[in-house]
Amino acid sequence: MSHMFVPGPVDVAPEVLAAQTKPMIPHRSKDFEAIFKSTEERAKKIFYTESRVFQGSHSGSGMQEAGIRNFVEESVLSCINGSFSQRWNDVAIANGKQADKIEVEYGEAITPDMLRDALKKKHYEAVTIVHNETSTGVENPLKELCHVVHETSPDTLILVDAVSSLAGVKIEMDALGIDFLMTSSQKCFALPPGLALAGTSDRAMAKAATVKNRGWYFDLVLMEKHRLKDSTPMTPAMSLIYALDVQLDRILAEGLDKRFARHAAMSKYMQDWAIAHGMEPLAKEPYRSKTVVTIKNEHKWDISALNKFLQTKDMRIANGYGKIKDLTYRVATMGETQLADVKALTEAMEEFMKQA
Ligand SMILES: *Cc1c(COP(=O)(O)O)cnc(C)c1O
Repeated sequence: MSHMFVPGPVDVAPEVLAAQTKPMIPHRSKDFEAIFKSTEERAKKIFYTESRVFQGSHSGSGMQEAGIRNFVEESVLSCINGSFSQRWNDVAIANGKQADKIEVEYGEAITPDMLRDALKKKHYEAVTIVHNETSTGVENPLKELCHVVHETSPDTLILVDAVSSLAGVKIEMDALGIDFLMTSSQKCFALPPGLALAGTSDRAMAKAATVKNRGWYFDLVLMEKHRLKDSTPMTPAMSLIYALDVQLDRILAEGLDKRFARHAAMSKYMQDWAIAHGMEPLAKEPYRSKTVVTIKNEHKWDISALNKFLQTKDMRIANGYGKIKDLTYRVATMGETQLADVKALTEAMEEFMKQA
């Protein structure tokens, strides 16, 4: 039974945890390289890409930095509608880039019109979009936003953070023309934290080769040289790759379409429950996330008291995040979680309501 309704780290299946106890072998060995190659091959199916998927030994934020260092020489446009898209803008500025932004209120989605206007005013090498804002529970209209970039500024690279949605929501990287699509292990992939994956297009790699000052640890041109030999420049987090190896088989055995439908059904159930109990989700239709439900704390619950109560039943939800910390709470519906688990959670929350 799943009990972590927190948007990462989430519950990890026992056999996936166990895979991490496999003995070490040299990372530059045929045996490890075979695993590393096959995890990439299977990951490509979840990214819907024929290109490549980098497997980095660091959390998702590292891939935000990699995206900036490799694909932006000078100017980037950050689309901001929550804490994680704000972070990507902070990362760009911290790396000395000229990062302009378009911004909407927390709870809103970035609109195709505002993106088109910004791209008409100025040329950018890249645009950053967070597909699923984990702070607000808003899913941006990715397909429409990608379309606007291709139409308005065809050579601008599209960098997408799908940390809290990839493997829970279908994102067809190649079909949408996304250049860099990244995620981390501890959310919809339901792995322990510490691994980040990034699908990367050929044209993004061509651009990276021209960008100066890419650094070393996140240099994707160097990573690519080693990737072609099923390896990495540095020692990878081998135990996590063992876990990924097992988890990819589990994900593909469930079937991607079934997995996406399960996530959509769980979030819909949670949203409907909240509305029926007088609490609106922060996001409006059709922008409600399928993996994390951010709910307005309209009954002014003490969320830490609620969590204390839930923990007596071995369950846990999340506070709001960032500037809406106390105004909202969040229920993640991702990874191993099943609809029956979410129903058990709402039953427990109803019990809490009666005594509150
Ligand atoms: C969790 C999260 C991140 C940060 O990922 P880490 O793996 O913690 O570095 C970035 N973006 C989004 C949308 C997230 O949900």
